[in-house]
Amino acid sequence: MTPYKRILRIVAIGSLVFSACHQASDQKFFDTSNMDTTVKPGDNFFLYANGGWLKTAQIPPTETSVGGFLDVYKKTQQHLKDILDDLAKDTSAAAGSLQQKVGDFYAAGMDSATIDRLGYEPVKPVLAKIEAIKDVKGLIQFVASEHTYGVPLLFNLQVGPDEKSSMVNIPSFYQGGLGLPDRDYYFKTDPATQGIVQAYQKYVLTLFTLTASDSTTAVKNVAAVYALEKQMAESHLTNVQLRDPQKNYNKMAVARLTKEEPNIGWQDLMAGLTIKTDSVNVGEPGYFTRLNALLSSTPIETWKWYLRFHVLSDASTALSTDFVNANFAYAKALTGQQKLKSRWERMIQSVDNNLGEALGQLYVNKYFTAEAKQRMQELVDNLQKAFEGRISKLDWMSDSTKQKATEKLHAFLKKIGYPDKWKDYSQVQIQKGKFFEAEMSARQNNYHFQVSKAGQKVDRTEWGMTPPTINAYYNPTFNEIVFPAGILQFPFFDLAADDAINYGGIGMAIGHEMTHGFDDQGALYDKDGNLRNWWSREDSTRFRSKTQLVIDQYNQFTVLDTLHVNGALTTGENIADIGGLAIAYDAFKLTKQGQGAEKIDGFTPEQRFFLSFAQIWRSKVKDERVRQLINIDPHSPPMYRVLGPLMNFDPFYAAFHVQQGDKMWKAENARIRIW
Ligand SMILES: [Zn+2]
Repeated sequence: MTPYKRILRIVAIGSLVFSACHQASDQKFFDTSNMDTTVKPGDNFFLYANGGWLKTAQIPPTETSVGGFLDVYKKTQQHLKDILDDLAKDTSAAAGSLQQKVGDFYAAGMDSATIDRLGYEPVKPVLAKIEAIKDVKGLIQFVASEHTYGVPLLFNLQVGPDEKSSMVNIPSFYQGGLGLPDRDYYFKTDPATQGIVQAYQKYVLTLFTLTASDSTTAVKNVAAVYALEKQMAESHLTNVQLRDPQKNYNKMAVARLTKEEPNIGWQDLMAGLTIKTDSVNVGEPGYFTRLNALLSSTPIETWKWYLRFHVLSDASTALSTDFVNANFAYAKALTGQQKLKSRWERMIQSVDNNLGEALGQLYVNKYFTAEAKQRMQELVDNLQKAFEGRISKLDWMSDSTKQKATEKLHAFLKKIGYPDKWKDYSQVQIQKGKFFEAEMSARQNNYHFQVSKAGQKVDRTEWGMTPPTINAYYNPTFNEIVFPAGILQFPFFDLAADDAINYGGIGMAIGHEMTHGFDDQGALYDKDGNLRNWWSREDSTRFRSKTQLVIDQYNQFTVLDTLHVNGALTTGENIADIGGLAIAYDAFKLTKQGQGAEKIDGFTPEQRFFLSFAQIWRSKVKDERVRQLINIDPHSPPMYRVLGPLMNFDPFYAAFHVQQGDKMWKAENARIRIW
């Protein structure tokens, strides 16, 4: 839910689902019928590898995209559905057991008759509390109390390692409070953005009218709420500014904040949040200064309408059909998704969000093998060796910085599949027929888990993703790379596949996450996860100029009409893609297949490696979703995640005889080589 997380993800494209029309019955690890061999590989390798598939692929109406590598998402959903359907029917599970909680939670969410009958009854007590607010002090009290139920009003709160003392947890307060995805939406004047703003205002209006305010009052207050959010948005940092870790680290004493921002009333706020530390990190101080001013300059009635909307919006997906539809109408404008997903799919998502490590335990018991974990461990070790070899050969870095870089690489914490220690759900109360309350109980449990860490020693066994997640991450303050069980499936990984497939797939993902430890942000953290410089000045300068080359290259990629990739927003991911490919390739060349010459389907081992790499990004995305992602996603669009790295990689030129005149060709001395 927090828009700003210091977890850098390899895949943040959302819920992409594999189209049913391409469910190959006998699994081939690379399907040549997906290719378009009329395209020259050196002109557009993404189209060469995936063009045949792109010609016929259809985005299902319940999705915003479709893609080959997301085969795995649909498959995983089905696995989770099987588990949950069984549990929901099971009446023998002991009260209080994980099976009972997960099963009853899902059953409560699937009980649409009860949910529809209740309308917005479950959220009425919260609305009554808003009604009773008399002043700013009362408002802050309410906001704090809602945070304890995981409703992120006005700001985002996270408890995690202090970036400059990474063994101790500190609460961090980040800018928040907006209903549109990002500050820029409030200021852009192009027709696409205007359409989204209108849909957003309509959403606010619908929630007001559904909860029985007369239409004149409702319309007036939609405008007031929007104007208030726009003032908040003015003080928000941009997505690019949020990428600067130093700028977003501002440790402050609560006593000082209490004095400087009396309307927020930090001391009372902290008490309401049940956090007991003397200091906090304020990610974006400018936002909180503005918030403090707005609390007194905006009429309390306007604030109350603002709160009503955000409380209702947060609850909407757990309420009756009217509310679910209102929420979806806005999502539709934002992403282009035509039809709401079926209830079971939405409920799986909710179980994963709320009881993720409970469901995760049941999932890995059934669908994850010790063999897969073992094989993945070997792959990670091989990639680490290959990366070490590359660092030792870098021509732009001094020996002393190389030594530090190698130490950081060796210090990586490697997590595969699922956590060694599971989160505790003993306090969660779930009853059938009470879905909203079930969500609140789970969210409250999660909140208390988070805040109980404040001021405490960091527990490095904690995971930031649930086991079925089709994703991976590098976390700079833990200096760790993490691969949930979900991503250890084809087309990323398969125990039966040849090395070209696995190294081009999950190998690239491993290399990508490792490189995040050394991208423009990750490189600012030392081996212990502290935001502390370990570079010589000269090396740092050379690294910055290479980073600039990456920004310049990606700025030139056009996505839709005049829309370009935002090089500055995507730098970290692009560096990780460029490095990840190179490291995975080197590791592949250490394998028997990589050293051989045996062709499969007419392709050399090297060619097959690159084809595997291109197929993991095979996808087609709705235009609306493309526009949204360009604004907020730190990853480049799939096609450029393929073309960008390959254009800079010599072995690709050799494998496919790419020559001057080909569209992807870059002069040898213009190719970017970082890691
Ligand atoms: Zn990434």
